[in-house]
Amino acid sequence: MSDCRVLYHILKRCKSSMDSKTVAKTHARIIVLGYATYPSLLASLISTYAHCHQPHIAYHVFSRIINLFNMNLVIESLVKSGECDIAKKVFDKMPFRDVVTWNTIIGGYVKNSRFLDALRLFRGMLSAKVEPDGFTFASVVTGCARLGAFCNAEWVHGLMVEKRVELNYILSAALVDMYAKCGRIDVSRRVFECVVHDHVSVWNAMINGLAIHGLAYDAIVVFSRMEVENVSPDSVTFVGILKACSHCGLVEVGQKYFEMMQNRFLIWPQLEHYGTMVDLFGRAGLLEEAYSMIKAMSVEPDVVIWRALLSACRIHGKKELGEFAIANISRLESGDFVLLSNMYCSFKNWHGAERVRQMMKMGGVRKKRGKSWIELGDIIHQFNAADQSHAEMKAICRVLEGLIKRAKMEGFTPLTDLVLMDVSEEEKEENLTFHSEKLALAYGVLKSSPGTKITISKNLRICQDCHNLIKIVSRILNREIIVRDRIRFHQFKGGFCSCGDHW
Ligand SMILES: [Zn+2]
Ligand SMILES: [Zn+2]
Repeated sequence: MSDCRVLYHILKRCKSSMDSKTVAKTHARIIVLGYATYPSLLASLISTYAHCHQPHIAYHVFSRIINLFNMNLVIESLVKSGECDIAKKVFDKMPFRDVVTWNTIIGGYVKNSRFLDALRLFRGMLSAKVEPDGFTFASVVTGCARLGAFCNAEWVHGLMVEKRVELNYILSAALVDMYAKCGRIDVSRRVFECVVHDHVSVWNAMINGLAIHGLAYDAIVVFSRMEVENVSPDSVTFVGILKACSHCGLVEVGQKYFEMMQNRFLIWPQLEHYGTMVDLFGRAGLLEEAYSMIKAMSVEPDVVIWRALLSACRIHGKKELGEFAIANISRLESGDFVLLSNMYCSFKNWHGAERVRQMMKMGGVRKKRGKSWIELGDIIHQFNAADQSHAEMKAICRVLEGLIKRAKMEGFTPLTDLVLMDVSEEEKEENLTFHSEKLALAYGVLKSSPGTKITISKNLRICQDCHNLIKIVSRILNREIIVRDRIRFHQFKGGFCSCGDHW
C-alpha cells in the first residue's frame, strides 16, 4: 500500500475511535511526506478533526489551502463521503468561489438527499451573481423532482429558458422526469415533444414518468414510437415498461415485453427486470409463475426478489411459499434486518421478529428516516417523521387529531405497532401518528382553502396506515389528495386510491 493510502486508513480509524492524538501525529506525517496538498487526504483530515471535536484545527487546515482548484476538490471529497455539513463550513470560509465550487456543493447536497438545502444554496449562487451552467441546472432540476415541488420546478425551468441554457440529453431527460415527478405528466409530455429526443435517456424519462402515473398504455404507445423514430431501447427502457405493466396488472403484455427484450433486442435481464416480473405475477396471484421465474433466473436472486415474492404470498395467503422466501432471505445474510423482521411479522411469527429486533438494537441498525414535502405557494415545507419542531406544530396536531377522529367514525382503525412493522419502512419507535406524510397532510389542510387539491411527496414508500387514513380523509373532506412516494403516484379521491391498494 502506498503511504497515501496508509495515511488515509489511519485517519479513517481515528475518526471512528475519536483518537485526536493520532490524528495530530498523522497530520504531521502528512506534511513531512509532502502530501499536504492532496485534496482527498486533506478532506479526510478536515472531517477527522471535525469528528474529534477539534473544529478549530480543521479550520486551520483548510485556511492554509489558498488554491481554489484544491479547495474545490476538497469539497468534492467531503460531499462524496456524505460530509455535507463540514463541506459547507469549508465552502463558507472560502474567500473566492467559482461556478465549479457552487456546482460541487449543490450537486453534493442533492446526492445526499438534502434537496431543500440544495435549492437554498442555488438561490445563494444567484444572489452572489455567479452564472449557473448546465451542471448546476442538472442538479437543481433533480432536486425539484425529488421534492415534487411544481412551482419551484417551473421557476427553475423558467430560469433555464431565460438564461438560454443549451439543452443536452441529460437536461432534457431531467426536465421530463421533473415534471412527471411533480405530478404534472401533461407538462412532462409537452416538454418531451418540444426537446430533441434522439437519445434513449429522454425516452426512458418519459416512459418511467408514465409508469409512475399508472399510465401503462401511454407508456406502450411511447415505446412503439421509439421504433418509428429509430431509437433503440436499452435495459432501463424495459424496466420502465415492465413497471408500467406491473402497476396496471397487465400480465400478458408484460410477459410479451420481457420476451421481446431478450429475443429482439438481445438485452439480458438483470435483477431489476426479474424483480418487476416477479412483482407482476405476484400481484396477479400467479404465485407459481412468479416462483418459476425466480428458479429460471440466470443470476442469483437478491432480497428484493424474495421480498416481492413474499409480499405476494402475504396478499394471497400462501404461507408455505412465504416461509420459503423468508428462509432464502435469511440465507442471503443481507444484513437487511428491517426486512427480515417485517417478514416474520407478516406471518405473525412474533418470536422471530423479536429476535431480529434485538439483533438490530445490538447492531445499532436504524431504519431510514421518513420525510415528506408539501409546496404551498412557492414555499416548500419539509416534515420529518416524529419531528415536532415545526413552529405551528400545535395547530398541525389539532388538525391531525381532528382528522383521525372523524376518520375513525367512518371506520378507520389505526394499525397496531406490530402490524405496522410489517409494512413500514420507517423507524419502529416512531409514533404512528407522526409519520411525515400525516404531518404534511394536516399542514396542507390547515393552510389551503377547502376543496383544493393537496399534493405531498415522500422519500420512502407510504405505509399502510397512512394510506388507509388518506383514503378516508379524501372522502370526508371531499378533496383530491395526491401522494407521490418512492414507488409511484397515489391519487386519493372519494375514499379510493388510484393504485388500487397495490404499491
Ligand atoms: Zn405512515
Ligand atoms: Zn395508493
